[in-house]
Amino acid sequence: MPIHYSLDVPRGGSGGVGDLGALPSLIAALPDHAIVRLDAQGRVNGWGTAADSLFGWNAEEILGHDVERLFAPGTAAALIAHFAPGGGRKRETADDQCRHKSGASFRAITSLTSIAGAGAGGAVEGFWLVVRDVTEERASASSIEASAILLNSILETVPDAMIVIDDHGVIQSFSATAEKLFGYDEAEVLGHNVSMLMTTPDRDAHDRYLSRYLDTGERRIIGKARRVIGLRKDGTTFAHELAIGEARGRGRRVFTGFIRDLTQRETAAAQLAELQSELLHISRVTAMGTMASTLAHELNQPVTAVANYVETSLALLQAGAPGSDAIVQEALAEAAAEAHRAGKIVRRLRDFVARGELDKTVEALADIVDDACALGMVGAATPSIEIERAIDPTTGPVLVDRVQIQQVLINLMRNAVEAIPGEHGGIIRVTARPQGDFAQVTVTDSGAGLAPGILATMFGAFASTKRDGMGLGLSICRTIIEAHGGRIWAESRPVGTAFHFTVPRAGRETRDD
Ligand code: ADP
Repeated sequence: MPIHYSLDVPRGGSGGVGDLGALPSLIAALPDHAIVRLDAQGRVNGWGTAADSLFGWNAEEILGHDVERLFAPGTAAALIAHFAPGGGRKRETADDQCRHKSGASFRAITSLTSIAGAGAGGAVEGFWLVVRDVTEERASASSIEASAILLNSILETVPDAMIVIDDHGVIQSFSATAEKLFGYDEAEVLGHNVSMLMTTPDRDAHDRYLSRYLDTGERRIIGKARRVIGLRKDGTTFAHELAIGEARGRGRRVFTGFIRDLTQRETAAAQLAELQSELLHISRVTAMGTMASTLAHELNQPVTAVANYVETSLALLQAGAPGSDAIVQEALAEAAAEAHRAGKIVRRLRDFVARGELDKTVEALADIVDDACALGMVGAATPSIEIERAIDPTTGPVLVDRVQIQQVLINLMRNAVEAIPGEHGGIIRVTARPQGDFAQVTVTDSGAGLAPGILATMFGAFASTKRDGMGLGLSICRTIIEAHGGRIWAESRPVGTAFHFTVPRAGRETRDD
């Protein structure tokens, strides 16, 4: 903003050479202002105290000399125009290049005011020239500007969001990352209380936290990072880590908040945890192979015992020997006990493979089917198997343990692949449709069809028609589906087989409410 000097001076001041008596002494001695009086031709005829240090001349040296000496070459031309007869009576302040006695130039704000002679329309008798050095002022202004540019470049690039508030919690600056994170432009938040970016209870308590700190100096959060919830412009919230720093200077105190979005980190952690639980499950399934051979050994004993008891009983009954009844009864009781023991061993394996507790979430059936199809086909030896998916969109989401239902689908897909003869290729169709409160999923294959007699036993343990089959897949599927409150069954088709299962639809709870 230009500074205007308006000097209220008596008309026709005419002291002696170097005498500024006409000027109030207070003004003549102004430390930062050189006051110079000129005659009508522009020669110095008065010299204020501050002019000495500003220009390097003293009164003796400069008095009587042309004002041009005080300006950088060429700069005085505009001034000199005033000295011509009829020249301007008053010159507004100007930003000029002045000259020191040493020849060095400096920037100054100058003001020239004419001294009119007595009487209306009196001739110009001389001028007052007021000069103020602004070199340092300019330098500090440009260093402030440079700091502001530096600060802005930091605010633009700092990867964490940065918010500066004053000691009343009013936002002073808002970095580019903060704009992205919170969805506000800087202009929308500047001058507002920072609590607008918080959720309750912090929102209500922030001013209290701040004044408590200002009153007591007790640092509760300054210098520490903590997890807080931020509120975006659109009303959504997100978790972030907040670290607060404090800066003081020139009687001002500001607080700087560095904010790191934790959403990605927390999502990644959740995904990792999920992956780990899946891996755990898969590793259990893999371990099943190892366990099966141990179990085969364990089962061998009770099963052989049952066979022995039954054969002995049969032999005794056939021989019809007296008193054999009691022995037969005892043998059959033992056979039953051994059969129960075998049953327990099988249950143990089933519980081991199908995780005990269900972790039910609302899931899109199509997603589960997609994943299972991809996994189920991994390593399929048959090259030309086509997969068809048809999920009726009215089925809606389901409430299931995703990993376990995937496991069921994978088992059904693998069986379907194995039922399709290697050389011909075929088709596997996965469909889903609503069935009351349940979604019914069907896996149909164009394979060889069910082996005679297997339909009745296939969902039990160890029912297999395959040379190296364990006969556990469908039994595990049944455990999982029944744990979900659903049902699983098979159906022979003119070509191939269809397996159906049901799982609860997610809307069921809502409808029950
Ligand atoms: P495994 O596959 O180890 O034999 P499962 O419990 O998965 O054990 O299957 C039991 C039996 O059910 C199989 O051996 C097979 O006879 C029959 N089965 C399962 N799925 C199909 C299918 N898609 N087509 C024909 N038979 C099947």
